[in-house]
Amino acid sequence: MTTTITRLRMAVQKSGRLADAGDGLLAKAGIKIRSAKGQLTARATNFPLDLMLVRDDDIPTLVGDGVCDLGIVGLNVLEEYRLDPANEDVDVLARLGFGGCALKIAIPVVDDWSPAMLEGKRIATSYPLLTRDWLSREGIEAEVVTMHGAVELAPRLGIADYVCDLVSTGQTLEANGLKPVHTILESESVLIRTRAAMAPPMVDRAEALKTRMLGVIATAESKYIVLNAPEEALADITRILPGAEAPTVMPLMGMDGHVAVQAVARESVFWETLEALKAAGARDILVMPIEKMML
Ligand code: ATP
Ligand code: ZN
Repeated sequence: MTTTITRLRMAVQKSGRLADAGDGLLAKAGIKIRSAKGQLTARATNFPLDLMLVRDDDIPTLVGDGVCDLGIVGLNVLEEYRLDPANEDVDVLARLGFGGCALKIAIPVVDDWSPAMLEGKRIATSYPLLTRDWLSREGIEAEVVTMHGAVELAPRLGIADYVCDLVSTGQTLEANGLKPVHTILESESVLIRTRAAMAPPMVDRAEALKTRMLGVIATAESKYIVLNAPEEALADITRILPGAEAPTVMPLMGMDGHVAVQAVARESVFWETLEALKAAGARDILVMPIEKMML
């Protein structure tokens, strides 16, 4: 007898920079995970989902080979995987807006930068395929030295002349006498899905999970704005409202020529925005958080 798998399998980082944010995103998407310390898997108690807790480097392979249906991984790890033609490609369903960083060439702080300086030199990196790909597109011949960690130490240790490393704040590079000079790849975490066949109910469940996750991301960035304004100020106000294309406009009882405006702003609402709205004629401006959103 063959058993049909009825639960989604998602590969996520066991521990590290993406693990907490990934857990947080699932929690906000209403998914309760029964955490089990030291285990390789974790089970959702209120959604047909099992997590496989692995090293981030293994996530594209697990999803590419169809061992897992979904995965959360950095674009940097995914693009490195994709450059190996032997690997099965996956679909990127969504950018998740956390784990932002960039893969950058870094050189000693005292040096002046030009791509030509890399010619004939040694470059240490954990992303050999991305680095070689960039070098060949630039027409530069250089030796790529693969390291699995502590890449920023390579120049000091005499292992390499320069590095190609992940940078978010740049502090680690700076502490090692290096400065970032050129970006090879901008990265953030993404939701990926296998191209291997999935049973129809699983496809729907994966889609539902994606919709929830996108809802969480949209909610974090969005605010609900309510204000009153004279009708003639409407055009200006609509222009100022950040990321709100079609506001709801309603008459105000007993106040001819005045309306109430309601809109979802899809971008951050700053004090400057409120000041501009007020200057345009808006009054009683309320900015409210949004609890849930389904797009
Ligand atoms: P693992 O044990 O899972 O292999 P790791 O050491 O390779 O862990 P982390 O350092 O936790 O991985 O980084 C995971 C991901 O976080 C990176 O692949 C990248 O997408 C993202 N990231 C964000 N900022 C940074 C940063 N400053 N340095 C490294 N990675 C970063
Ligand atoms: Zn890793």
